[in-house]
Amino acid sequence: MMLMRNESSPLDQTEMIRASNRRVWVMSVIVILIGFGLTAHCDLVQADELAQAGASSEVVDASDLDIIDCHTHFYDPSRPEGVPWPDKDSALYRTVLPRHFRDQQQYRPVTGTIIVEASSRLEDNAWLLNLAEADPFVVGIVGRLEPGSADFAKHLQRFAANPLFRGIRVSVAVIQRLLDRDQLADLTLLADRGLMLDVNGGPQTPAVIAQLAARVPKLRIVLNHIGNVAVTSAPPPEAWQAGIQAAAKHPNVFCKVSALVESAAHHSGQPAPDDLEFYRAYLDVVWNAFGEDRVIYASNWPVSERGASYETLQRLVFEYVSEHGTEATKKFASLNSKRAYRWTERPGRRNGTNDL
Ligand SMILES: [Zn+2]
Repeated sequence: MMLMRNESSPLDQTEMIRASNRRVWVMSVIVILIGFGLTAHCDLVQADELAQAGASSEVVDASDLDIIDCHTHFYDPSRPEGVPWPDKDSALYRTVLPRHFRDQQQYRPVTGTIIVEASSRLEDNAWLLNLAEADPFVVGIVGRLEPGSADFAKHLQRFAANPLFRGIRVSVAVIQRLLDRDQLADLTLLADRGLMLDVNGGPQTPAVIAQLAARVPKLRIVLNHIGNVAVTSAPPPEAWQAGIQAAAKHPNVFCKVSALVESAAHHSGQPAPDDLEFYRAYLDVVWNAFGEDRVIYASNWPVSERGASYETLQRLVFEYVSEHGTEATKKFASLNSKRAYRWTERPGRRNGTNDL
């Protein structure tokens, strides 16, 4: 690095040597730490100390981690028109808004979210966009429209005029039908507009996504909930593994690690285990196939409450990903979703939203 002499406050020669020595010392310490495999300790070194010492650093303070939860649901049954989901007799039937989400105990502070629309009502896309516009914590919504229906293009034109509208979610049955009928014009239109597609369904979903990705290669597709495979103490089913590997062969397919704890609880009839080892084989299948550039953090809150607390589900996946290093963790937390959803920054997003 070249030192520039500043006319108004000349840098004293001794100071220059001292600063230079400090840099050499700091860099030596880092090299030694890395040499002993103690890179984790670098995280404890305050970035500002390094900056003062004149060293450029890639050290990231854990509190600086930008975490976008890419799968939340918000709704308000007290609206005059009510809500079509969840059912009245469900524990989820209550007002659930971003502020309630922020009140959840978290393992690491969540700094933003992408909401996924679960309501089948067309106008609820507008309701969700209004909610998003009012709160910079929301970086985007995944709406709900029916590709293949008569007015799809018209509705897409309307909602996509709002840049917070990042794409749509559909069920795998819809995708299978469109593939069978060779009716892919609406999905191509989605891709042409730079929007993306979330797909939800059972363990056959990844294999269907692989077919779609081959047919519409410019469409960015996000597999929901790792394909809702039954997460149990048994090894991951081979057909599901093959589907994940087939989907991951297509560079525009991403995978959200949401709904693990709901699946574990659902298939055991008990609260989900809170030990990472229970989930590891399933996470390994996803990670080994998609790699660190295409796995995305997402929770499925508040539905995830059926399996475990938010803090627990978040800890499980962040414990897993942190084993792959700081860069991989940053990608998982927000950088990969930025590529998948092309969400854009919102002024004020990280101010005053972290209550923890
Ligand atoms: Zn969901």
